[in-house]
Amino acid sequence: MASDVAVSDPLFALQHQTLNNLARPTARSLGLYNAGLSAEAVRQQYGVTHIAKLASNENPSGASPQVVSVLQKDAGFSAVYSDAASGQLRDALAKYTGVSADKIVTGNGSEDILHMLALAFLNPGDRVVTLIPSFGLHEIFPRMMGADVTLVGVDQHQQFDVVAWEQALSMPAKMVIFSNPSNPVGCMLDKDGFARIIAAAPQECVLVIDEAYFEYCQDDPDYPDSLAVLAAQSRPWIVLRTFSKAYGLAGLRVGYGLASHPELVNLLNRVRTPFNINRAAQAAAVAAIGDQAHVRASVALVRVQRKCMAAELTRLGFYVAPSHANFLFFDCGRSSGEMAQQLLRYGVIIKPWREPGYEQWIRVSIGNEEDNQQFIDALKAILAQGAA
Ligand SMILES: *Cc1c(COP(=O)(O)O)cnc(C)c1O
Repeated sequence: MASDVAVSDPLFALQHQTLNNLARPTARSLGLYNAGLSAEAVRQQYGVTHIAKLASNENPSGASPQVVSVLQKDAGFSAVYSDAASGQLRDALAKYTGVSADKIVTGNGSEDILHMLALAFLNPGDRVVTLIPSFGLHEIFPRMMGADVTLVGVDQHQQFDVVAWEQALSMPAKMVIFSNPSNPVGCMLDKDGFARIIAAAPQECVLVIDEAYFEYCQDDPDYPDSLAVLAAQSRPWIVLRTFSKAYGLAGLRVGYGLASHPELVNLLNRVRTPFNINRAAQAAAVAAIGDQAHVRASVALVRVQRKCMAAELTRLGFYVAPSHANFLFFDCGRSSGEMAQQLLRYGVIIKPWREPGYEQWIRVSIGNEEDNQQFIDALKAILAQGAA
């Protein structure tokens, strides 16, 4: 490869040194988001024909047929800029959520909104409180700004540890971020726990509630109505949701935030890239909102398959954390990195966890029946080898 040749080149070495001198120290030392492998890379490297890609919580039902037809119609407009304000999409979201459009911000995935929140609020040394194990960007974006991140663990049953949260929040913090249900554990903070954590948060802080898996819980009577609870208090807050999971639009990148106040949206608008959501994605998301039957069907399929997969994993002797989302988190009893490598040979991609204390844990997405079976069969084969 060209870069291997260049390593011995003095000019290349000098350029490397200069880059490192110029870069912000926080950028140089930042952890990389673990985005996982593509199906194509695994197909090529391992020569497996059928890949079960169960690493990124993608939707096995895909997008609504209405989305597909809108994308085909919009294909002729590639030369035209998208609407920088995402007007139609925000109007559709306002109608669907009951939150007025001036309190809605849209992002190139909800990760884009997490990025905007970090840019708009965090100075070096500010304290951010979040969960561990957790969605990587809840920690990486604050660290990018030089913030100090406090990580609150789950309890021994892999549930939100509300008492630990109350303690962590008894000290000043600029921002509180957690996902409910959580990724990667899948645990759900119930109404009482949610109210307690919100009440415990410092008065001067921004509350960021990441509901990427909202659709999988919204009809659960124990799932907090975050918008109602948050509306009754004075701190700034934002609830993040996404089209990547239950709507099946991960590849198009659309997420949205429902904010406490139009001024919060104004602040985020100042730090975001102006045309952050492309045309196709805006049109697709509007169509996706219109097909709630598709969302319900995709959620129902995940529920059935999740139950089957959890039962299979338990039968194989693994401890599986109870999940309210479209994935399972389980202790595979050995290095999850090694297990992940072995699974690749069988064409199965899962996410081995890397955070301290979770190096034996795997997060596996709920796919369709065939992919899930491929995963279980591969696990059985690997276990049988170990026993032989
Ligand atoms: C998947 C996920 C997201 C969303 O990502 P997008 O950028 O909208 O694709 C955000 N938060 C959590 C916790 C997630 O699991």
